[in-house]
Amino acid sequence: MTQHPLLEQLNDKQRAAVSAPERHMLVLAGAGSGKTRVLVHRIAWLMQEVQLSPYSIMAVTFTNKAAAEMRGRVEELMGSSTRAMWIGTFHGLAHRLLRAHYLDAKLPQNFQILDSDDQQRMIKRIMRSLNLDEKRWSPKQAMWFINAKKDEGLRPHHIDGYDFNERTYKEIYDAYQVACDRAGLVDFAELLLRAHELLRDNSIVREHYQRRFRHILVDEFQDTNAIQYAWVKLLSGGGESTDNFVTIVGDDDQSIYGWRGAKIENIHQFTRDFPNVETIRLEQNYRSTNTILSAANSVIANNSDRLGKELWTEGGDGEPIDLYAAYNEMDEARYIAGQIESWHEQGNALTDVALLYRSNAQSRVLEEALLHARIPYRIYGGLRFFDRQEVKDALSYLRLLVNRNDDAAFERVINTPTRGIGARTLDIVRDGARQRSIPLWDAAKQLANEKVLTGRAANAVLAFIDLMDTLEDDTADFSLGRQVDTVIKNSGLMAMYQAEKGEKAETRVENLKELVNACDNFDQFDNAVNEELTPLNAFLAHAALESGEEQADEHQDAVQLMTLHSAKGLEFPLVFMCGVEEGLFPSQQSLDESGRLAEERRLCYVGMTRAMQKLVITYAEQRRIYGKEMLHRASRFIAEIPPENLHHVRMVSRSQADTTPAMGRFHSGASHEAFAETGYQLGQRVRHTKFGEGTVLNYEGSGAQSRIQINFDDVGSKWLVVAYARLDRC
Ligand code: ATP
Ligand code: MG
Repeated sequence: MTQHPLLEQLNDKQRAAVSAPERHMLVLAGAGSGKTRVLVHRIAWLMQEVQLSPYSIMAVTFTNKAAAEMRGRVEELMGSSTRAMWIGTFHGLAHRLLRAHYLDAKLPQNFQILDSDDQQRMIKRIMRSLNLDEKRWSPKQAMWFINAKKDEGLRPHHIDGYDFNERTYKEIYDAYQVACDRAGLVDFAELLLRAHELLRDNSIVREHYQRRFRHILVDEFQDTNAIQYAWVKLLSGGGESTDNFVTIVGDDDQSIYGWRGAKIENIHQFTRDFPNVETIRLEQNYRSTNTILSAANSVIANNSDRLGKELWTEGGDGEPIDLYAAYNEMDEARYIAGQIESWHEQGNALTDVALLYRSNAQSRVLEEALLHARIPYRIYGGLRFFDRQEVKDALSYLRLLVNRNDDAAFERVINTPTRGIGARTLDIVRDGARQRSIPLWDAAKQLANEKVLTGRAANAVLAFIDLMDTLEDDTADFSLGRQVDTVIKNSGLMAMYQAEKGEKAETRVENLKELVNACDNFDQFDNAVNEELTPLNAFLAHAALESGEEQADEHQDAVQLMTLHSAKGLEFPLVFMCGVEEGLFPSQQSLDESGRLAEERRLCYVGMTRAMQKLVITYAEQRRIYGKEMLHRASRFIAEIPPENLHHVRMVSRSQADTTPAMGRFHSGASHEAFAETGYQLGQRVRHTKFGEGTVLNYEGSGAQSRIQINFDDVGSKWLVVAYARLDRC
């Protein structure tokens, strides 16, 4: 019998899951076993074989990038458009619901999304207005408190406030919420909570979507929090409906957002809440080599309370995992850059390489080494394009343009560039706004007109108000790109950054131009944002929701840098895990709490299982991080890897380590003799026809495979295969 095309390239269990009759399903399986693939094929199957319209399907993914990929893959399988299908992150879908039903959700039509940076500033302002001592109360803590409560579905009035601390945080939450509502601002947690309340309290809206979405499919389910799960339940009739089906896909070993309220127990809860859930376990891994898989399996085996899964692969053993013990973080970064260069020289793509780290703070040194070696790279998360100062300035103008009540945007641009509105004037405006319970914009306008503000200050405020109103009128009929370009120029923002000197200022100007570019190329229909929005509102929502997955230089062949958290669900032929040291990974805080340590180990498992062909683990014995010099031991996770899977990179060059002049201290049994096999010596001066003169730093491998690292005076450090390097001794 010939196979249905959608079932080709699937194993028996995957096939059973994809072609199962309509029902609730749980696909529980380890990394790289094809869970996401099953989800994609299942969606295509539902449309093609069960004849469901894309209109009746909702798919939830963890990132916007994953959503775009999923839509692309389904369309490829189907050969037709799936535009009517709702697919996106929980936040993206919640946003879409709120836009469609803003009145029912008690939001202004042009409400804007507050990112976490803006949220923290806003909380800080609120705390100041409540006269709370900043030394005693931290805005960051308050933000955590508020978000955690929202993730649990709690409003201020639900909180008991049983002690002084909690009462104070409750008071901040309350005041913050009032300010957000007044300004038409919605933070990330609020998106979820408000969408939940909308579905819970409005039966017409709820029933509409229950009828619409016959199937809801959720990837990475192990990282859903309470409110997200409650959402899925509401939309699907809570397990009681016979016309709604939920498929969840996950891996308890990859749950890494417990610190943000995610609950692994949701997986169990699902099987209790929904009737006749069919559980499917996948065991074959298609991603990684045997070596990588057995190492990852050994590490995760140290956790208790696992649901328990065995993973195997038909793939070969592949290469061992390289372990590099660096002297310090600079040495680590240089080693990695050198390895990437030789990978690239062998004709491999840079996009196939990922550098994963525990903390965003680690990226700077890595970036420097890559810059020095002229290796293009791209960072996911952390330094998002839309988070850069100048881009946020521009976005704030745009936000204020569509919503004058947006206090956060008002604060950001009122005196950027400087227009003579000083701190004192602003204080008066803030006080006025608070006393009259009106937005800052209205307060500024009223106070200037009532002559509470006088002279230069009043004129400056009125000029600003006029500027915004004129911008709105003048650009109303422009295309999005032209509108944004005009705002950036007429607001004085562009001139301000052009007047600044230096490389940084140049980059800022380029980023502003890139923003206009991004607007020109923006297709709101590709971004799972509601079609009815104005292009500008759609773009602003996209900028707030997108998490740095697309950056300006999207199509360039570049190495990818990201935290271990943001690597979830992805795969790369070559993966570097950096900074695998006690105190950094596992993190210091997790060492004090056993639950957290298990979560760090799952994070390690996630990182290792991203690698397809080759995994390299590095750690530094000495590291300057968070402004402190620290001495570290190799992480316990390294000790949990079977020794036969590891290859200790034999030689560590100390010569390049910035803090020690000593050369030739070796690791793991490497010797001068072994080095001599290459015919070169550590520290020797050599000449290369193309790269010029340099110093021998390091070597690796043996026989025909042996390679040496040379620090060239002009072009920096490079790894060369000894057999082909054709070096002259100087
Ligand atoms: P993770 O837990 O990391 O999210 P996953 O279980 O979602 O992993 P996928 O990303 O779906 O795994 O699949 C891993 C890789 O294996 C992908 O490259 C996928 O295309 C491939 N793959 C999955 N199933 C098969 C199969 N039956 N035959 C060939 N390749 C497969
Ligand atoms: Mg997946």
